[in-house]
Amino acid sequence: MKDVIIIGKGPAGITASLYTVRAGLNTTVIGKDSGALSKASEIENYYGFETPISGGELISRGIAQAKNLGVNIIEDEVVGIGFEDMLTVKTANNVYKADSVIIATGSPRKAPEIEGLDKYNGKGISYCAVCDAFFYRGKDVAVLGCCDYALSEALELLPVVNSVTMITNGSKPIDNIPQEIKVIDTPIDRLLGDDLLTGVAFKDGTEISVAGLFVAVGVAGSSDLAKKLGVNTVGTKIAVDENMATNLPGLYAAGDCTGGMLQIAKAVYEGAKAGSEAIKYIRKKNGITHEV
Ligand SMILES: Cc1cc2nc3c(=O)[nH]c(=O)nc-3n(C[C@H](O)[C@H](O)[C@H](O)COP(=O)(O)OP(=O)(O)OC[C@H]3O[C@@H](n4cnc5c(N)ncnc54)[C@H](O)[C@@H]3O)c2cc1C
Repeated sequence: MKDVIIIGKGPAGITASLYTVRAGLNTTVIGKDSGALSKASEIENYYGFETPISGGELISRGIAQAKNLGVNIIEDEVVGIGFEDMLTVKTANNVYKADSVIIATGSPRKAPEIEGLDKYNGKGISYCAVCDAFFYRGKDVAVLGCCDYALSEALELLPVVNSVTMITNGSKPIDNIPQEIKVIDTPIDRLLGDDLLTGVAFKDGTEISVAGLFVAVGVAGSSDLAKKLGVNTVGTKIAVDENMATNLPGLYAAGDCTGGMLQIAKAVYEGAKAGSEAIKYIRKKNGITHEV
């Protein structure tokens, strides 16, 4: 039995844990891997680092900070959340009970199987338009994906780059794509370039030159856990109010899984807010009515 279980050990989950553990609550964070940040080679838009820091380094520091304060961090995959007499979190290996649960599972970015995708990661392949558009200003880029997420990435890029092509890799594109965005629905054969990505070759033998390819295939998963409990979602995102509360008492969500800006600063704020609200919720449940 725990006071608080936080699902996800990215910036949102770890920040929430800093607040709850410092309030004296028994806090456990369950995370299966390093999340979105592990893919970020250089972060230069987060407060407090005069030189860029890698995502991996930022995660390690956050986790060490939480452990030093007494947070229990478990490496496991959560497969379900339930409600019996209290909230339950089911992992592949265990079932935990808690007064309050914070979902901070991020927003999975699905990577399709395309030859060269890993090779050019950080060398022309990006998973985040708002993070990396600046590096491609004035250049021709493409977005890989067919649907709403890919379109929102393309719209983010349009004002900064020279041109955006949406490559659906054989999938049917959504039909509200503005004319400024060219659409190619032919399946991809392979990616082109030596050290850096220079283009994309298609199965019909055609090629295009691009300096960047932004992967935005689907965005799914985070809301699945919430949906199992009847928690409201908006598309693939978990619906929360201004206190990061879902429609289920004691259940909060924070970070990329709630939508909006997919950025560390926003994840940290929401983690702090969700943690603070979980503290109030548990104190109220335990009959402590005054603010501490
Ligand atoms: C390539 C790249 C570059 C980026 N660059 C920047 C940048 O420069 N600046 C910036 O501000 N932002 C950047 N971002 C975005 C930033 O990484 C995210 O906004 C931020 O990490 C979101 O934090 P989060 O805690 O919500 O989710 P995440 O960091 O994604 O963490 C999610 C956590 O949930 C866990 N999890 C998920 N599902 C389960 C499950 N079922 N069971 C257990 N655990 C689970 C994961 O293992 C992980 O620990 C970048 C993202 C990418 C992909």
